[in-house]
Amino acid sequence: MSFLVQKFGGTSVADPERIENVARLVGNAKDKGHDVVVVVSAMSGETNRLLGLAGEISGNPSKREMDVLVSTGEQVTIALLCIALHKHGYKARSYTGAQVKILTDDAHGKARIQHIDDKPIRSDLDAGNVVVVAGFQGVNEHGEITTLGRGGSDTSAVALAAALTADECQIFTDVDGVYTTDPRVEPKARRLDKITFEEMLEMASLGSKVLQTRSVEFAGKYNVPLRVLSSFAPGEGTLISYDNEEQDMENALVSGIAFARDEAQLKITGVPDQPGVAARILGPIADANIEVDMIIQNTGANNCTDFTFTIHRSEYDRAKAILISEAEKLNAREVQGDDKIVKVSIVGVGMRSHAGIASKMFKTLADEAINILLIATSEIKVSVVIEEKYLELAVRSLHEAFGLAADKEE
Ligand code: ASP
Ligand code: MG
Repeated sequence: MSFLVQKFGGTSVADPERIENVARLVGNAKDKGHDVVVVVSAMSGETNRLLGLAGEISGNPSKREMDVLVSTGEQVTIALLCIALHKHGYKARSYTGAQVKILTDDAHGKARIQHIDDKPIRSDLDAGNVVVVAGFQGVNEHGEITTLGRGGSDTSAVALAAALTADECQIFTDVDGVYTTDPRVEPKARRLDKITFEEMLEMASLGSKVLQTRSVEFAGKYNVPLRVLSSFAPGEGTLISYDNEEQDMENALVSGIAFARDEAQLKITGVPDQPGVAARILGPIADANIEVDMIIQNTGANNCTDFTFTIHRSEYDRAKAILISEAEKLNAREVQGDDKIVKVSIVGVGMRSHAGIASKMFKTLADEAINILLIATSEIKVSVVIEEKYLELAVRSLHEAFGLAADKEE
């Protein structure tokens, strides 16, 4: 017997029929003798619909009221799922985040979980119930409803699994696992049986949308084995955990190729090469709450240097305007920008023990005549920024070069 936390996303509970399908999957686990806590999202599209309703009334609604509003989506699905479980002969009880209770800080719309009271859940489980908990929501110490940020149900599930010391946190979604890259870009992409937390974290933050980054961080921190699997197709999915010896033995240098489409870069040239300049350039960008990704400063010449950074494309105009006004104050030569760029990254813990991975990446891109605009590396990833029009070609040729395809022979 195992103790499982099973999370079902919006597409898995999109209509009553699918909710019954979820009840069957949960029932199967129960029949095998497992204890099951289920976390559900709102029915797909519901959170957006609710946000839209508020938007029709006000451009600047109160954050407290928005949390009261959007948390209703999940409250609907917990009840419907319990009704479906009852119909199939299972005992089940639903709980909102506040009822559990999932205690968070006060940050409406992006609250962080601080504590989970596991007692009511444990006594329900002991009485043979499936416990169904609303994802995405919690309550602060004043009893106010809070939400965790978009996609937050993954985090709810992992946090519950950690608090209850579950054996596994299973994230059911509309894909059957984590792939070597997005199969829409490279049809030869292969499902990975296993991947490490570190790799998954890089993949998630580099653009792979299978899991919310925060949930992976959480799972790694509390060592909760995570499994991504499909609500619609049978299979073992992908296990994300620390222990990945099998994969090391396979000697996979690169586990996956991640990419982010909506990138933009800004460059300020001819700024004085002296202490404090980077802070003066990036300070106002940070003050405007614009997240900066890669940062590159060239070696100076004639007491001047160039400074380049990347941001999300949606922030391009705002960041450019800020930079232009800073450029004047700094007496810089000019501000250049490009909002037709993408970031492509290779990720793999195997890189740690092998030299030459980066140069293989650069050579592969060079062979396709793809120009690299920026490069950034960490222990287990190499990212390049390239022109948007080369995205598909870059992903496919790297996928091939690192032997990731389904029909791999190496
Ligand atoms: N319903 C919320 C959202 O759409 C939370 C989730 O689905 O994880 O973002
Ligand atoms: Mg979701």
